[in-house]
Amino acid sequence: MRTPLIAGNWKMHKTLAEARELVGGIREGIKGIGGVEVVICPPFHHLFAMAKAIDDSPVMLGAQNAHYEAQGAFTGEVSVPMLKDAGCTHVILGHSERRQYFAEDGPLLAKKVRAAVAGGLNAIFCVGETLQEREADRTRRIVERHISDVIKADVPAERLIIAYEPVWAIGTGRTATPDQAQEVHAFVRAMLASTYGQPTAEAVRILYGGSVKPGNAADLLAQPDIDGALVGGACLVPADFAAIIKAAGTWAAVSS
Ligand code: PEP
Repeated sequence: MRTPLIAGNWKMHKTLAEARELVGGIREGIKGIGGVEVVICPPFHHLFAMAKAIDDSPVMLGAQNAHYEAQGAFTGEVSVPMLKDAGCTHVILGHSERRQYFAEDGPLLAKKVRAAVAGGLNAIFCVGETLQEREADRTRRIVERHISDVIKADVPAERLIIAYEPVWAIGTGRTATPDQAQEVHAFVRAMLASTYGQPTAEAVRILYGGSVKPGNAADLLAQPDIDGALVGGACLVPADFAAIIKAAGTWAAVSS
């Protein structure tokens, strides 16, 4: 059985005081919940402080981006060894906002994922279609292209986590139905199986992301190929994030 993973993408939110308050609330809210891995992904400049704030708790630390070079003249960028130095175990790569607003494309993302995994980070690699693409019945083709960008770069599956995030569901309050999400997750797992083999594909976590809230988390997490969630808006509210983690913990306990 795959351990569910709930990751919170803070995006460009929270001052330091607010970040400390949020982490305090999360720590309080998840007390007694087991069987779930929890990752928070604050903005870069909070990483060292948040590493301290989650010290002696089961919460892990992730970043929202990384450069593929270890060091060099890349103004404004942060590398994988720097993230490790700050206490990160995870990094989100290929988020649709990075693809859309910062023109990150497949070849670039493949280099980033390869560097992250080679550098010892777990890469949460985001894939997903726009509304226009879904309506044109191109969901599978788009997801296949995103996944094959990484596969072509010979990324080993061991530290790879996939997040299926339909772009039309991110921050919109519109969620994929559990069936819609499951269909794509099963497709992703089949793709992974054809490259890495079935046993390895069975071990890879595939998260769903897109307006996950306390009210829809349990139904999504109950799907056989949904192994957790990448959460945006709801991760900024401690009670909501904790409720999603609790739903994952309950599901893990029931299905083990
Ligand atoms: C995200 O940004 O990865 C995300 C899923 O956001 P939201 O939960 O707000 O839709």
